[in-house]
Amino acid sequence: MAVIPLIPIFHKFNKLFFENTLTINQEPIVKIKWSDNRLRTTAGFYKRIKTKGTIQSEIILSKPVLANSELQNIHSTLCHEMIHAWIDRILNINEIHGINFISKMEQINLQQNNFKVTIKHNFPVLRKELKYVGVCLNCGNQYLYRKRMKNIACKKCCNLFFNGLWNKKCLIIFD
Ligand SMILES: [Zn+2]
Ligand SMILES: [Zn+2]
Repeated sequence: MAVIPLIPIFHKFNKLFFENTLTINQEPIVKIKWSDNRLRTTAGFYKRIKTKGTIQSEIILSKPVLANSELQNIHSTLCHEMIHAWIDRILNINEIHGINFISKMEQINLQQNNFKVTIKHNFPVLRKELKYVGVCLNCGNQYLYRKRMKNIACKKCCNLFFNGLWNKKCLIIFD
């Protein structure tokens, strides 16, 4: 899958929206990269890693979700993650989508019309299918799951017969 380079967009946004605070001597203070082909559950994320006392952080955009998406989705996702990087590394605040995030997001959205930063990435993300069927030992109800679960009990039966407590009589069994 061919992907567009992210670094030039990063530099452009850094200048336009973050007053060049996300670079030191033209070098990004966060790594920016495309994921491999497996990251399907989110469009992108920001993460901070602390190794030997030094903080490193990276922005990863999902290749499977975004590579064939419209450019504005890539821009909006990258910009979203850059706000996280800016709050973490420049403001030094521990926040996810709080007031600093929202005010920066609104400022960026007012400043231009090419894309819109949102709190949730609002385009389809492939979710794992609900392909596992579990059956309650007690009532026979069927439930769908994304993976096989261990030691989970039927909520309905637990509530009805066991005061809401887990009981092995209403375990959900997978075949
Ligand atoms: Zn976010
Ligand atoms: Zn049940």
